[in-house]
Amino acid sequence: MMIHSITGATSVVGVLGYPVVHSLSPLMHNAAFEAMKLDWVYVPFPVAPEAVGNAVHGAIALGIKGMNVTIPHKSAVIPYLDQLTPEAMAIQSVNTIAITEQGVIGHSTDGPGFLRALTERGFDVVGKNVVVLGAGGASRAVVGALAVAGAAKISIVARHPERAEELYALGTQLSSVEASVCVLPWDNQVSRAIQHAELLVNATPIGMAPHDAAHSPVPIEWLHDGLWVYDLVYTPRPTTLLRYAAERGCQTIDGLAMLIYQGAEAFTFWTHLPAPVTIMESALTTYLRKENSE
Ligand code: NAP
Repeated sequence: MMIHSITGATSVVGVLGYPVVHSLSPLMHNAAFEAMKLDWVYVPFPVAPEAVGNAVHGAIALGIKGMNVTIPHKSAVIPYLDQLTPEAMAIQSVNTIAITEQGVIGHSTDGPGFLRALTERGFDVVGKNVVVLGAGGASRAVVGALAVAGAAKISIVARHPERAEELYALGTQLSSVEASVCVLPWDNQVSRAIQHAELLVNATPIGMAPHDAAHSPVPIEWLHDGLWVYDLVYTPRPTTLLRYAAERGCQTIDGLAMLIYQGAEAFTFWTHLPAPVTIMESALTTYLRKENSE
């Protein structure tokens, strides 16, 4: 991989997580900086949970311009920031930090990235009935974004319904159209909910390569023509769920779209420039194709 030469003027950004060794963000952002001939570089920062505060203070002292924040620090980082954007405030989760002269600002680009992939493909969330599988960190961003964007009904499917209660409260509180938000256990009720839904989102790791690639979170019989199926998992491509969805005539969106668009929003948050989305996509697809063939 080519990284342009680093000079005394190079701006540094990176990703704060634990672990970060598998993150695709360095690849995507360095390709974008290279293509736009920006004197910027993106590096991984593995930071243990007890060192998050020191890492933010250290980044400020080192003149780092910003960071992505990933598992397990998306909420833990908040006390060390000066301000949150409305998106991050709403879901109390930060995946992007900008270190500016006005202070350290926390943003969440996961929800906007998730929505942008839907909008660009022609799906309007307003008034729609949506089923979201999973109640973890990604689901938090998805439910928050759907509620704000005006979904009429959001059913959150959780293995441990008690863990989804917080998400339920979040969806209800953020909803701009008084959406009905409910929590469903993983049983036959899910099939009925999907039958009446226009969009199904998989926000669980079920179906993720290499260990679970043969599995789908729901059986093919539960999918119907006219349903949109959005799988946040992006390896393999397609996932078993998206293969089933295509067989049933559903519109499909894979997790790569959200990964790219959340990255594009972060790129613009730091550089104030439009992100070269096609370059970012091509860097990721080339890498994933190579990985899959090995
Ligand atoms: P997380 O916080 O660990 O949450 C995972 C959720 O899935 C939890 O609710 C968990 O339930 C549920 N779950 C896990 N295994 C399950 C199973 N076998 N059956 C039923 N439910 C199960 O993870 P996350 O950060 O939300 O990420 C979820 C997935 O989204 C991952 O595959 C991640 O790679 C992907 N993701 C993609 C993007 C993107 O940009 N495309 C962004 C973020 C995440 P319990 O609470 O019961 O354990």
